[in-house]
Amino acid sequence: MKLILLLLFMPYSAKQDSIPKELLLYGENKQIPNVIKSNVLTALSHYPELKDANIEFVFKQKMKKSIMDAQPVFATLLKKKKNRKYRIRISALMTFTHTAIPIHQIPDSIMIGWIGHELGHIMDYEQRNFFSMVGFGISYLFSGKFIQKAERTADSFAVEHGLGYYIVETKYYILDNADLPQVYKDRIARLYLSPDDILEQVKKLEEKKEEGEL
Ligand SMILES: [Zn+2]
Repeated sequence: MKLILLLLFMPYSAKQDSIPKELLLYGENKQIPNVIKSNVLTALSHYPELKDANIEFVFKQKMKKSIMDAQPVFATLLKKKKNRKYRIRISALMTFTHTAIPIHQIPDSIMIGWIGHELGHIMDYEQRNFFSMVGFGISYLFSGKFIQKAERTADSFAVEHGLGYYIVETKYYILDNADLPQVYKDRIARLYLSPDDILEQVKKLEEKKEEGEL
């Protein structure tokens, strides 16, 4: 039932071959592989604050713990903030227990939700100076609690930027997928906000909007 509701609310996403002009505006200072360009631009269009940010989206053959991650390019952290560069790494393959598909074959809405979450991390990084970023990197390596906080922050940014339903769909895609390794699903369930938590946030946001607070 929830999924049906979600699909009803889900805005139609553009196809790869005909990217609308309004979306192309969000490609400034971004390097995006063509096969995922339309979906990445759709996610970016929810973050006007990142319009000038330098972000490179790269496919990786092997990633250890996650399907995607977002990091600043370390050498640029000492530069002025406007010269900072970020890199979102994307596993070239979506690996299931018994099979694998090229990542761009996952449904559009899931890709938009996933990228939307990674952009949430970049919003968090944008508010941090060099020392805070170094502290972030170290804490992320050693503290489960810190990872949990950072992941929740990224999700919250995505919800506040109108990507709530995409994020929920992405979570269901992972958590309800019988063909994904249990270790991976357990990690997501432990460290990330649950679909219900996200729906709760979306509801609160919509109430605020109705009351005219936003
Ligand atoms: Zn994350």
